[in-house]
This record gives sequence, structure tokens and C-alpha cells, in this order.
Amino acid sequence: MSSVSKHLKGIHVDHCKNTAGQPIVQMPVPEKVYIPMVQHIGAPCQPTVAVGDHVKVGQLIGDNTAPMCAPIHSSVSGEVTALVKGMTAQGIVDTSIEITTDGKQEVAETVVPPTVGNKEEFLAAVRSCGLVGLGGAAFPTHIKYNPRNPEQVDTLILNGAECEPYITVDHMTMLEHAEEIVEGTKNILKYLNLKQAIIGIEGNKPDAIAKFNELVKNEPNISVCELLQQYPQGAERVLIYECTGKHLIAGKLPADVGVIVSNVTTVLKLQQFLDSGMPLVSKSLTVDGNVVKEPKNVEVPIGTPIIDIIEFCGGYTGEPKKILMGGPMMGRALPDDGKCIIKGNNAILAFDATFANMNPETACINCGRCVKACPMNLMPTALFKAFERKDVDTLKKYHVMSCMDCGCCTYVCPARKQLSFINKLGKSLVLAEGGKK
Ligand code: SF4
Ligand code: SF4
Repeated sequence: MSSVSKHLKGIHVDHCKNTAGQPIVQMPVPEKVYIPMVQHIGAPCQPTVAVGDHVKVGQLIGDNTAPMCAPIHSSVSGEVTALVKGMTAQGIVDTSIEITTDGKQEVAETVVPPTVGNKEEFLAAVRSCGLVGLGGAAFPTHIKYNPRNPEQVDTLILNGAECEPYITVDHMTMLEHAEEIVEGTKNILKYLNLKQAIIGIEGNKPDAIAKFNELVKNEPNISVCELLQQYPQGAERVLIYECTGKHLIAGKLPADVGVIVSNVTTVLKLQQFLDSGMPLVSKSLTVDGNVVKEPKNVEVPIGTPIIDIIEFCGGYTGEPKKILMGGPMMGRALPDDGKCIIKGNNAILAFDATFANMNPETACINCGRCVKACPMNLMPTALFKAFERKDVDTLKKYHVMSCMDCGCCTYVCPARKQLSFINKLGKSLVLAEGGKK
């Protein structure tokens, strides 16, 4: 049964969902993969293999005993040919394991379904899967599923909003794997002892909403929440409010309002691990942008170089001037297409100069559009001016730490001010001063 959502502010952006309806195709194994030892929030993994070792698909190749860490597994079979130090797609300098593939995709003997009969075994399985938030946050899932206040947490929210322009891969994942996602949801409810699950899906995916409504019609503790067709419905704080009416203020975790949020793909990968024992070794993503010849939804081994994926999509039709990992609102601009796919990556977008070039910034005209657009009711114009003065007290007074980097203010600003980015800098300034208000 669908529930009616309440609404926070946001903006209407062109959906540009050019790949909508395209099935997710499996990309052939590339010649080499480069698997970074840090693909999550937390401590980097240490390599557990050395140059010259033969590895198989699903074999552990990196881990760390630090609590905030998710193990890393080989996505291919082949030989470890180098440990490469360099900057990853996340902008972090760390070690990547170079594996020259043998094309056989032999599966490791350790890949067997885990034994899960209680909460502790379930959490151990989530960790050994190497699971992180696949919506982009890359927070280790076994930490998220084990909050400090379990007795106060009763709700799981599945994020199926996919509100960023261009990206359609979660939509296709929901259509192709709805049954496994519902099964994974039931397992999370069972082992974490939660009362209900709400699947939040933006209204521009009526086929996915209909599919889940049909699948959960006899599941009294699982419901579907049809979200507004408005950006950023998938932002964690907006999603929680829209699905439950609860406000998550800055500095608090979803568990503080009784909620755990997981992306639909995260839940799918978890269920697939419970069924097969295959840890997180591949990632589905949308490849699009006006210089990509054949935009696609693809599933690729983690560590695949972006340039190989672009070639699989027919190559470039023009010179790429901006390459994004993620969507145009919150994605990260990459210096080139030599970086590799990591766990939290859900899109590669490539644009030419007509899309990438920015007109010069002009003076603020006090139009108030940024304030009107902000889902968190912030005053981006006041924050921007406070940052220019390096005025930490005013940044705190106007709650810069509540900014969730959604980019709505930047998108609507006629003066083309980089308000969202300036707020990131403002937050760094506040943190550097030791304030977290
Ligand atoms: S101030 Fe922050 S939260 Fe508000 S619209 Fe801008 S980026 Fe989004
Ligand atoms: S939208 Fe831009 S021009 Fe308008 S008030 Fe905000 S910062 Fe100023």
C-alpha cells in the first residue's frame, strides 16, 4: 500500500534519463583492473596479497582490523602484477592492487553462502561481503546495521529515489531484481528486529512502484512511499522526512530518529551474498553524457578503468571536457578517464565544452532563489557572504553544518555562484575551529 509523502523544498531539474528502460548489460572482463584499498568511509584496507599471487573472483585481497572498514575482494581471476600508489577516483592517495586478468573468471573456493541464524552472524556476513552504501556514501554497512541504540531503531528505509539527472541504473535494478530486494528487506527486518520497512521511490518510476506494491501487498510491515518528482528526494535527510515525517538535524545519524537507510542496490547485493556467498565484486552504473556514443546501463568488475567502460559504450563522439563520477548535482569531477570504478560509484558522465563551460560569476542580486530552493531552510546567500568574511560565528549561527551539499542553491542561482561548494569550504572552516553546531 502506498503512503502519502509530506514535502520539503527542492527543485525541478531536467531528468535527462536517456538510458531509462535500458537493461543492465554485463561488460566483458577488462585486460587489467586496479582495485583501491580504500573505497569506503574509514580506515584503508591493507593488501592481503602480493605481486605474483594468483587470485580468483571473490577472494579477499584487502582488509583491516579497524572497526570502520570494509574488506575488499578480487573482482577478477588473474595475477597480481603491481601494487600501485596513486590518487583514486575519490581523490585519496592510496594503494591500488593491479590485477592482470586471465579471462577465466575462476571463482574462489571461499565463495559459499554464509551461515546466518542470528543477528551476530548476520552482521558478520554483512561485513564479510565487503558491503558499503552503494548510493554513493560508501559507509560500511555492517556499522550502519549495528547502531549504538538498537532498541530505539525500528524502521528500514530503502532508497530507490534516484533523483539525480541522467542516472537510471537503480531504476533498472529495481525492475530486474525486485524479488531479491524484497527478500533482502525481509532478512534485514528479521535479523535487526525492525518493525517496518518503507521503500521510497520517486514518482517518475511508476513501473517500479507498481512492481513493489504488487510484491509487498501481503507483507504488512513493508510499504512503498511514492516520492515527489523533485530533486533531492534521495538525499538522506529529505528521504527520511518524506517517508516518516521525522527531521534529522545536522550532526545526528538516522539511527537517532529510529531509522536505518539503505540504497536498494545495497540490499540487493546483500541478498545475493546471502544466497551465493559472492561478495561485492561488481558494480552496476549508468554511462551517459553528450560525448558518449552509446549510453548504457552496465555491470562492471570493480576496478575497471573508466576508459575501458567508455570504449565498451562505443567511445567518445567529441572531446570530453568534463567527466563526472556520479550525477551532475552531487558527482565528483575527475581529472581524466584513467581512474577506476569503486564500490560507491553509480554513474560515469562525460560532457563536451558546451556542457562543461561555466559562464562567469556575477554579483548577487538578492533574488532569494537560493533560499527558496534549499530543502534544509538555510540561507545560502548569507552563508556565502559569511564565508567571504571568514566569519565562523555567522556560519555557525546560520547552520552551515546542516548543508547537505545537494547543489539546489547553485543550480537556481542566476549569478552562477558556487554556493554549494562554498558551503563545503564553510563547513571545513567551522570544523577547523572546532565547532560542530
Ligand atoms: S545550502 Fe546546502 S542544503 Fe541548502 S540548497 Fe544549498 S547545497 Fe543544498
Ligand atoms: S540565488 Fe544567487 S543571486 Fe539570488 S540571492 Fe542567492 S546567491 Fe544571490
